[in-house]
Amino acid sequence: MSHEVMEQAKPLSWRPVIESSALSPAPPGARDAVLKFYFGPMDCGKSTLALQMNYNHRRQGRRGLVLTKHDRSGGPKVTSRIGLGLEAIEVEDSLDLVRLVTSHERVDYLICDEACFYTVEQIEQLADLVDVHGVDVYAFGLASDFRSVMFPAAQRLFELADEVCRLQVEVLCWCGRPGQLNARIVGGAMTRTGEQVVIGDTGDAPVRYQVLCRRHHRTGRLGEGLGEEGAADAGSAA
Ligand SMILES: [Zn+2]
Repeated sequence: MSHEVMEQAKPLSWRPVIESSALSPAPPGARDAVLKFYFGPMDCGKSTLALQMNYNHRRQGRRGLVLTKHDRSGGPKVTSRIGLGLEAIEVEDSLDLVRLVTSHERVDYLICDEACFYTVEQIEQLADLVDVHGVDVYAFGLASDFRSVMFPAAQRLFELADEVCRLQVEVLCWCGRPGQLNARIVGGAMTRTGEQVVIGDTGDAPVRYQVLCRRHHRTGRLGEGLGEEGAADAGSAA
């Protein structure tokens, strides 16, 4: 199509449209809301950071909601292992997060603890809250389950989040290597089969979880001379 024809084809109301690209300046005042996912194994300080982040945003005069699911306290609370705690909204599978937020007068941000246990649909709702409603969403959770397989909600967060951060608070395996994966321990032995979500680690539950390095998660060895699956790891626990 020639340039002249294009000129003729313009409707009377035509206005030059400035093409925008990744390098175009943002209009003044505009700041896109963000979806961030912070992940790490147990004990790496996820809930502590979630509570700290809520505190920081509130101090800036922002209004937010704190959500959780299956918190270690067993109640609708975010509690951290170092003793902090805050009332929170329990995210049942049927809870529509968009409806939850729009039913409040004003929500600037969401703190979503234990987001690995949300439904995939709820992760989609978080993305809608960011894109359509301008709500900042800070999600925290495990990436993978006791088999080292990713939780569906965590996977969706990896796919959709603007930013994914591995929390770097040091958690060590018993061998001293960085702890990366959660093992499920039933009756003193590591198990690799069962439901994806079994809440343990809350007092004297028969199920508990232990953070291991990748090597010891793969071999199933839980400590010096403990819980060894086969002899694959012989001699390497320096
Ligand atoms: Zn180890």
